[in-house]
Amino acid sequence: MRTPVIKDLVLIGGGHSHVAVLRRFGMAPMRGVRLTLIGRDVLTPYSGMLPGFIAGHYTFEDCHIDLAPLAAFAGARFYHDEAVGIDLAARHVLCAGRPPVAFDVLSLDIGSGPNLADVPGAAEHATPVKPINGFVAHWERILARVLADDRELRIGVVGGGAGGVELVLAMRHRLRAMLTARRQDPDRLRFVLITAGRMLATHSQAARRLLLRALEQRGVALHTDSPVAAVAPCLLRCVGGQEIPLDEILWVTQAGAASWPAASGLACDAAGFVRVRDTLQSVTDPAIFAAGDIAAVEGYPRPKAGVFAVRQGPPLAENLRRVLAGRPARPFVPQRRFLSLISTGDACAVASWGGLAFAGPWLWRLKDRIDRRFMRRFTELPAMPAAEPPAPAPGVANAPAQAVLAAHGMRCGGCAAKLSSDILSRVLARLTVVRREEVLIGLDAPDDAALVLPVAGMAQLHSADYFRAFIDDPYLFGRIAATHALGDIHAMGGDARTALAIATLPYGIARKIEDDLFQMLTGALAVLNQAGCALIGGHSSEGAELALGFALTGSVPIEAAWRKRGLVAGQALVLTKPIGTGALFAAAMRGRARGVWIDAALASMQISAAAAAACLRRFGATACTDVTGFGLAGHLAEMARASGVQAALDLASVPLLDGAPEVVRAGIVSTAQAQNMQPGDVLAQDAAQAGDPRFALLFDPQTAGGLLAGVPAERAGACVAALRRLGYPAAAVIGQVLGQITGGAPIRILEAPPARV
Ligand SMILES: Cc1cc2nc3c(=O)[nH]c(=O)nc-3n(C[C@H](O)[C@H](O)[C@H](O)COP(=O)(O)OP(=O)(O)OC[C@H]3O[C@@H](n4cnc5c(N)ncnc54)[C@H](O)[C@@H]3O)c2cc1C
Repeated sequence: MRTPVIKDLVLIGGGHSHVAVLRRFGMAPMRGVRLTLIGRDVLTPYSGMLPGFIAGHYTFEDCHIDLAPLAAFAGARFYHDEAVGIDLAARHVLCAGRPPVAFDVLSLDIGSGPNLADVPGAAEHATPVKPINGFVAHWERILARVLADDRELRIGVVGGGAGGVELVLAMRHRLRAMLTARRQDPDRLRFVLITAGRMLATHSQAARRLLLRALEQRGVALHTDSPVAAVAPCLLRCVGGQEIPLDEILWVTQAGAASWPAASGLACDAAGFVRVRDTLQSVTDPAIFAAGDIAAVEGYPRPKAGVFAVRQGPPLAENLRRVLAGRPARPFVPQRRFLSLISTGDACAVASWGGLAFAGPWLWRLKDRIDRRFMRRFTELPAMPAAEPPAPAPGVANAPAQAVLAAHGMRCGGCAAKLSSDILSRVLARLTVVRREEVLIGLDAPDDAALVLPVAGMAQLHSADYFRAFIDDPYLFGRIAATHALGDIHAMGGDARTALAIATLPYGIARKIEDDLFQMLTGALAVLNQAGCALIGGHSSEGAELALGFALTGSVPIEAAWRKRGLVAGQALVLTKPIGTGALFAAAMRGRARGVWIDAALASMQISAAAAAACLRRFGATACTDVTGFGLAGHLAEMARASGVQAALDLASVPLLDGAPEVVRAGIVSTAQAQNMQPGDVLAQDAAQAGDPRFALLFDPQTAGGLLAGVPAERAGACVAALRRLGYPAAAVIGQVLGQITGGAPIRILEAPPARV
């Protein structure tokens, strides 16, 4: 049984300091402290390797940290979302795409971005280098443009700091190498660096001299003392009146801050950076920390550079721990001098340290070694730590929390496990529930039971689902549990009308239970309300783990109800969503799934089946089911047996979630896989087919899986095209319905077509 949550530590942004915090909390968890990371990007860039990526020395994966496995290692919840504000009074982080996230202690490491707002036209006609993921997409367009266009192309970088210098040299190296490899003239590319004052203003004369020479030798035109006054399409206008025509304009000027920390009321400096003490605590709110570019440490002005964010990681982790444990934070003095290794694109670098500077390929090799070692700390994580730290963190368990911990393990069951009515009524008062006229007594006038009128002329559908959370995110879990439950009603061709919710909340202090319940029901209601399904009551209790289920009623004209037994020989089998959720989440539990895979799986699980069901009906489907716990093979076998037919599956056509075959190949499957593999359900052609990871995935249990239907073969192609247009991009014809079953397996796998020579 898990330790009750006593305090919430929320980290906003997966920047260079927070990755260190996550690693340290993973190595030594704090019992009673729940970590949540809110991150706009699943993959966070490591700034030191970005120029090397642009220059073509590193792949995208080489220079990005996958936050999902790192968060899993730390035992942290990863909310892939963007923070847009802080409600300081309510102690909530406001997010773009989910309900507010409660915190006891908060830390910001959200970086900075070049400031485009001050120069007219810059936002419209220039490309900022940050956020880096947006820039990477633009960089790919530049690569394609250079190849597609054989005219002269002028590429300009605005900003003469280390970032701008590295960027222009890296782009030059990569683009020229690309053209040379294709026997095209690399000299048709022109590179220009434009800077307001002098280049590398915060570096020594010696470093400046070396990099000026590097730019000159490589033919990069330099415009110093040329502050840009305005940007027009393909043109820079400088303050002195000079005009610089450019085909691509990239913006790497001084770092600017996001506006929301200051707008939320946090004390910030004139540029919007969060003012923090030498302990990294906000000068006005000691429970809020900031590190990296977004922090302005009082008394220690420093340039905005990743090296400071990296160095702040360990003291930030230590001070977060101290404050969570009720102890005073310790001061941290950032270093004054730091070694800058500025790459020149072609596997050479200039080292700048105080007044000294050196250049050479050996410095690039040194930089490469340092950077790769840094990345390994976050990509090659130690084996997952035990789920629970051995002892309560001293100080975390304050008086009320200690009472919870003491009671933990000797909780009452039965009716006494029911959630307090205060919590429930406070949560219900904050929720909005769709109303239906046939509901006479629902949540708005609670009684012993809900009172609902039958819908004239309709048959009623009833179904129930309940399962424990497979993700540590009550809001998303609520959304997925509701989507999953509604799948049964849609698979019968019906409309969902009412829902009763059955919720289990982990033991804890009232404030935390209330927040989890609110998050979970907010997610569920977003889905139920959109389906027009009224939540009319339910039951909630405390238990070991977060769990949620629904008893749903729906309606369907009796003659229109789809049955599993309606498959007809000759039909095509259409599946609306990819499979693989069971294996992917089994891998995620072991920290073995990539963040982007889990992100895509979660997105797929939230797609409602309603539009798919309506589409399948339009194209003449006669039988339908939703693919859930028994896996694609189990559900198709049920349909085939009930219909008295045999089904043929084409393994190559079954849509798979990204990463699912990889994790199966690595030997990771869901715990339900073995029981789903019913001998005799599926006939493989040969041992090779049976050993194919795609074959194993036929038995993978699905959560909120797609609809599987029998559709007239001649209309199946159009049906799939329509489904894709409706937002089911992986919809596919996966096989066909054969003739009557004459014994043997209800499903057989089609032979793979001969390989093309
Ligand atoms: C081309 C270039 C090269 C550079 N090279 C170097 C170098 O070699 N060495 C060096 O020391 N510095 C370098 N820098 C500077 C360096 O990039 C920054 O100083 C560094 O990235 C700051 O780190 P950080 O932890 O503050 O934030 P970041 O590394 O920017 O991380 C911020 C994180 O927060 C997330 N985030 C942002 N906003 C939100 C939000 N609202 N909600 C949730 N999440 C959010 C982002 O997704 C990201 O994961 C370079 C900069 C550029 C532009």
